[in-house]
Amino acid sequence: MDSNRLSGPLADPAGEAGYPSDHPDRVGFFTDTSVCIGCKACEVACKEWNLLPEDGLDLTGMSYDNTGALGATTWRHVAFVEQHGSTGSTVDLGMPGMGEDQVRWLMSSDVCKHCTHAACLDVCPTGALIRTEYGTVLVQDDVCNGCGYCVPACPYGVIDIRPDTGGAAKCTMCQDRLGAGLMPACATACPTESIQYGPLDELRDRAGQRVAELHDQGITEARLYGHDPADGVGGDGAFFLLLDEPEVYGLPPDPVVTTRDLPSMWRHAAGAALTAAAVIVGCFVGGKR
Ligand code: SF4
Ligand code: SF4
Repeated sequence: MDSNRLSGPLADPAGEAGYPSDHPDRVGFFTDTSVCIGCKACEVACKEWNLLPEDGLDLTGMSYDNTGALGATTWRHVAFVEQHGSTGSTVDLGMPGMGEDQVRWLMSSDVCKHCTHAACLDVCPTGALIRTEYGTVLVQDDVCNGCGYCVPACPYGVIDIRPDTGGAAKCTMCQDRLGAGLMPACATACPTESIQYGPLDELRDRAGQRVAELHDQGITEARLYGHDPADGVGGDGAFFLLLDEPEVYGLPPDPVVTTRDLPSMWRHAAGAALTAAAVIVGCFVGGKR
């Protein structure tokens, strides 16, 4: 088996999945959280385009965010992180009553990462999850049997089962729009270009330049997350510019594709089965003497 099938850098996931060499460039999202204003236009555009039901409008009690998390009917989620005190750089918004206790709001529009090595895809027993010609990961509703194997396999906690349909659901990167030459709905709706869509290589270059620009401005806490093809999932098709540690945004600091160790697990299981068979045969042979 190719050592890159389940882990490690992989230059062309669509080619690896069997698409001919003239398949489209791999596309992705670069979400620059430094310009996100938390308007949630992306959440609404995603719901409208993909006909996703609303999830209720209750505040969580922990934040001004009224959505809470990604889920089967929330494929884009704008996380609100409210920090008090001297954590990182704060901006004086001219609000009354803040005093010394400055508030920093970090906002980040989260989404399926369209992993290079997608464990959800590896574990799906029906072939409902597929790699598309654009290198993204897609659930085929009519093939999914709702077994839920993909849910714990995702290292980011993205995919979930829809209660109303019984099938798995997550961001499709608007596959139906891509085929028509359109951008995904969220990127189209974002008024600040916090969500950028395009060929992944271009986005990675652009993101590197943006981080350098922010560092030059003294914003040294700016960093990229999910952009590195050598990371535990082979790099993400959706990656981020963050202004603090990933954990602050609810993202795992060092995600690893959960199916990475399957080949060695199968080797160990086969070894154990052979040993057990040898012991049983030995017992029979020994018993006949
Ligand atoms: S983030 Fe989760 S649901 Fe999305 S492709 Fe990766 S493993 Fe699958
Ligand atoms: S719930 Fe659907 S998509 Fe997920 S593993 Fe089962 S069949 Fe595949």
